[in-house]
Amino acid sequence: MPKKLSNCIMLITYADSLGINLKELAAVLDDCVKDAIGGIHILPFYPSSADKGFAPLNYEVDSAFGSWEDIENLAEKYYLSVDYEVNQLSAHSPEFLDVLKNGKNSPYDGFFLRPSDVWPEGKNRAADLERIANRREGGPIQKIARADGSMEEVWSTFGGEMIDLNVQDPGVRAFHRGNLRKLSEHGASVIRLDALGYAVKKAGTDCYFVEPEIWNLLAEYAGDLKDTGTEILPDVHGSYFNQIRLSERGYRTCGSALPLLVLQALYFGDALYLRNWMKMCPRNQFTVLDTHDGIGIGDVRHLLPDAELERTLQKLYAVSPVTEEMRADKGTYYAVHQVNCTFYSALGEDDQKYLCARAIQFFTPGIPAVYYMGLLAATNDYDLLGRTRKPRDINRSYFLAEQAERELQKPVVRRLLRLMQFRNSTPAFNGNFTVEDSNPWTIDCQWTSGISTASLHADLRTGEFTVESSDGGERKILDLTLPEEAQQQS
Ligand code: BGC
Repeated sequence: MPKKLSNCIMLITYADSLGINLKELAAVLDDCVKDAIGGIHILPFYPSSADKGFAPLNYEVDSAFGSWEDIENLAEKYYLSVDYEVNQLSAHSPEFLDVLKNGKNSPYDGFFLRPSDVWPEGKNRAADLERIANRREGGPIQKIARADGSMEEVWSTFGGEMIDLNVQDPGVRAFHRGNLRKLSEHGASVIRLDALGYAVKKAGTDCYFVEPEIWNLLAEYAGDLKDTGTEILPDVHGSYFNQIRLSERGYRTCGSALPLLVLQALYFGDALYLRNWMKMCPRNQFTVLDTHDGIGIGDVRHLLPDAELERTLQKLYAVSPVTEEMRADKGTYYAVHQVNCTFYSALGEDDQKYLCARAIQFFTPGIPAVYYMGLLAATNDYDLLGRTRKPRDINRSYFLAEQAERELQKPVVRRLLRLMQFRNSTPAFNGNFTVEDSNPWTIDCQWTSGISTASLHADLRTGEFTVESSDGGERKILDLTLPEEAQQQS
C-alpha cells in the first residue's frame, strides 16, 4: 500500500540527482537517509523535451529513470508527491505535433491556447499583454509554423518548448483529470499542480491567479480525486495573500516566503519579520528553504519592507555573486523573479547558521520539505552552471550514488539528519504552535501536543540555538554532538 501524507519531512529530488535513476535513488535513501524523511517529492520523471521534465511529452515514466514499479516501490516507503504540469505540454507532444500537422482538423485543435481565445476581437490585447505577470522578454506569445507553412500564434508562458494548454477546453479538462487519477493510482499522495497560477488567462487581467476561474479548476480537480485520498498542492507564488486565501479554502500551500525571511533574519540578527510570518503563516503549508528553482523574490513582497528586501538581496549577491551566465539570462522569467544559489552558499557555508536555519524551518508551522542540495549542504555548482549556462543549474548538481553517500557523511549533514529525525519523531509537532515576542534578535517558539513539548531558542546574531523536548518528564536538550567529537571532548 502506498504511504499516506504525514507530518514528516519530505525530500525534494529529481529522479537522477542522487544516483542516476530511481533504483539508485531508493538505495541511497535506504542506506543513508532512512527515517530522516517520511516523504519524497520526485520532480517530473516524465519523458520531456525541455526544462528538466517540465515540458512533458506524456505522463509515463521516462525509461532513462526507471518504471512505474520503481515509483510504486518508493511510494510504499515514503509518501509520494509528484508534479503535474497543468499549464503546459511539450511542443513535441503527440497532441501538439498533430495540431501542427492537421491544423483545424486535429482532434487536439482546442487543446492549445491562442491569443484569439483570450482576445477574440484583439481588443485591449496590447494593453493587457503589458500587465501580464510573467515578464519574460518578448512576452508570452510565440509564433509557430504549421506543416503547411502557415504561421500561427500560440501562448507559451515559459517559452520555447512549453505550449500552454487551454484549461477552459473540455478536452483539456478531461485530459488533466485522467492524468491526475493515473498518478494517484500509481501511489501519489500529493500532486503539485505546477505553475497553476498561470493556468487561466483572461482579458482585462494580469493573467495570474485569475478568479473565480482558478477556484473552479481547483475544486474540479481536487473534487475528482476526493475518493482516492490524494491531495492537490497548488503551486502559486506572488503575494502571500494568495497563500492565505488558498489555505482558508482548505488547500495546502507552498511556503515559499520562508527562504528570504530566514536569510534576512540570519544576515542581520533581526527576528521581527520572520516572527510575524511564523505567527500568521498558513498552518497547512509545506515549508521550504530551497527548491529546484531559485529563491523566490515576489513571495516576500509585503512581508519584508522594500528597503529590507533590497538590503537582503544585496547581502545575498555579495555572498553568492551573480555570474556572467546569470547576466546572460537577464530578462527571462527566472532572472526577474528568483535568485539562483544553494541555501548553504547563501549562508556563506556557515554550518552553525545553516543548521539554525533548518531548525527554524522545522519549527515553522507546516510540513518541512528539504531539497536534495540542501540535504547535502551543497555549495554553488559553478562548474555545471558554466557548462550549461542555465542559472538554475547552480543548484541542480548530479551526484553519483557513491558521491551522494559520501556527502551524507559530512559532519554538517549528519547533524542535519539528526535534527530531521527529531522533527519526524516528536509528537509535539502535531499539536499547537506558539512563538514568543522575546528579544528582537531571538526566535523562541514551542509546540505542544498533550504531554509532548518541543521548543526552540535561536540567537539570530550567531546562529547558536537550543532545541529542547519533553514527554511529560524531564526536559531534554537535543544533542547534535557527533560521536567522534564526544570522544575527543572526554
Ligand atoms: C516550476 C519550474 C518550471 C515552471 C514551468 C514552475 O512552477 O517550478 O521549475 O520551470 O513551473 O513549468
